[in-house]
Amino acid sequence: MRTTVTSTHAPGTRAPNPQRVDALREAAHRIRGYALDMGEVQGQGYIGQALGVADILAVVYRDVLDFRPHDPHWPGRDRFLLSIGHYAIALYAALAEAGVLDVAELATYGGDDSRLPMSGMATYTPGMEISGGSLGHGLGIATGMALGLRHQGSTARVHTLLSDGELDEGSTWEAALACAHHGLDNVTAIVDVNALQADGPTGGVLRTEPVTAKWEAFGWHAVRVDGNDVEALVTAFDGLRAHRGSPAVLVCDTRVGCGVPLLENREKAHFMRVEEHEWQIARDQLTERHRTEETAR
Ligand SMILES: [Mg+2]
Repeated sequence: MRTTVTSTHAPGTRAPNPQRVDALREAAHRIRGYALDMGEVQGQGYIGQALGVADILAVVYRDVLDFRPHDPHWPGRDRFLLSIGHYAIALYAALAEAGVLDVAELATYGGDDSRLPMSGMATYTPGMEISGGSLGHGLGIATGMALGLRHQGSTARVHTLLSDGELDEGSTWEAALACAHHGLDNVTAIVDVNALQADGPTGGVLRTEPVTAKWEAFGWHAVRVDGNDVEALVTAFDGLRAHRGSPAVLVCDTRVGCGVPLLENREKAHFMRVEEHEWQIARDQLTERHRTEETAR
């Protein structure tokens, strides 16, 4: 069944508690701040994507996953697989927010001997479950992990974040078939539909819409949501938690650079170069936007 969560809460579900939503909005704001701080260390990077998925990661790490921040290998943990390794900057920010990484360590981002390389590496970073980045592999790994967990009788769940660009990869759809075939309802895929990929707008590179209908045709329970609406995300994840019988996918429409007007309107947004003087402007705009939205609520 297809459900599109475009308003504050889906039919038949209760609106989440406002305090819970506000706390997650604050978490997303901090994640954006950490991403800007890391971006400034290198002067460039996948900043736009990090700002775009900050709301998703805030909800996932502060509200959805069961894990122990100081014991990242705890066998009972829910897994989060970053298929898009180049989004590592976003995950480091979320891991700092989640208490897995110290905030101070973010200053080493991308440096020699840092545990935080510019692309996600499982052997380097606590909480980084896989080395992503060769695109189209996260869902296949998630499927294998979920099968293994089921054989072990574990109740742990596997989440994987992939991009709309990864929907161009045949391996993604092979994994989608296998995952549905095995009825792996311990898998949740999250697709960041920011309508952009390295070679240009996703719609121009290779048409993947209608995305939700494609997942449904592959046997998945599919929900589409505004990925920058924290309340809608919470409601959607609450709904997915109760779903049984098939894997589930949350298709998230996000805005590149979300929260920082200067970066929302960049023409070259996939890999962003930001001038030295612009970082403070970006931080000021982030704070200003956050305050304005708070006041408006
Ligand atoms: Mg994309």
